[in-house]
Amino acid sequence: HSTASNGVVTAAQQRHADVFSLDGKLALITGGGTGIGLEIARCMAEAGATVVITGRREAVLQDAVADLGDSVEYLVNDITDLGSIDGMVAHVEATYGPLDILVNNAGINLKKPALEVTDEEFSRILHTNLHSVFALTRACAARMVARRKGVILMISSMAAYYGIDRVVAYAASKSAVEGMVKVLASEFSGRNVRVNAIAPGFIETEMSRTAMNSDPDRRDRAMRRTPMGSFGKPEDIGHAAVFLASDAARYITGASLPVDGGNSIGF
Ligand code: NDP
Repeated sequence: HSTASNGVVTAAQQRHADVFSLDGKLALITGGGTGIGLEIARCMAEAGATVVITGRREAVLQDAVADLGDSVEYLVNDITDLGSIDGMVAHVEATYGPLDILVNNAGINLKKPALEVTDEEFSRILHTNLHSVFALTRACAARMVARRKGVILMISSMAAYYGIDRVVAYAASKSAVEGMVKVLASEFSGRNVRVNAIAPGFIETEMSRTAMNSDPDRRDRAMRRTPMGSFGKPEDIGHAAVFLASDAARYITGASLPVDGGNSIGF
């Protein structure tokens, strides 16, 4: 039996806790001040990690750190500033130690019919959601590969897989990230650096509320397409991220895990 009735942790319970634990690990989470990133930070901190969150707005990050507690630190950084990335990673490692986990969570959306999307808008989405993700991943992976240890997670989207109207640039960026996951996972597979994606469905955050509010029918349509009948919570992504970052997922690389209430069953 794994349950001790007197409140003492049994050996089996301890083994279970250890395999899912992030104790002693250092995680860098982009866009960790809000929404999904904030809950990934909370879940990883609760799993024992030291967490560094980034974003462009200092006040938002300060509030997040005050909420999340002592094991979470912040760094103001705009990931689209590619020239700042290597220095940022070097600073994180000099201050907190070797990075074990990178979560590429920061992202932006643009909801517009494809024919109305300008070149500038298309480039902006691709630059934030794809090029910056590549540049930060390269900076972190170089260090992880050298140490033969690391986990990289991409927060993708079901928009990478399904034809969701009016997100042409966003879908292109997320599909490209999914493609990148497989190549990176393959290249790093002999170096003990795992690379995986999480593909969230409809998760209630500021980003999705803005999208839903701009189109009154959208919420109903989204709900009809979600077999489990409710939208996800940011912590649903947080728990999946802890699993994929932990030793419990030690044999998982190059995968994309849908966390979507069944959207991926098919419409
Ligand atoms: P939010 O808008 O709440 O979070 C996005 C975060 O990214 C913010 O904290 C923002 O902080 C940060 N960010 C944006 N641009 C930059 C930048 N240039 N440099 C650094 N940080 C940046 O949205 P969500 O939490 O919903 O989204 C998080 C991720 O989840 C995204 O990648 C999104 O595509 C994905 N996702 C979300 C879904 C949903 O239903 N909500 C569904 C599928 C995927 P700041 O503005 O201060 O820089």
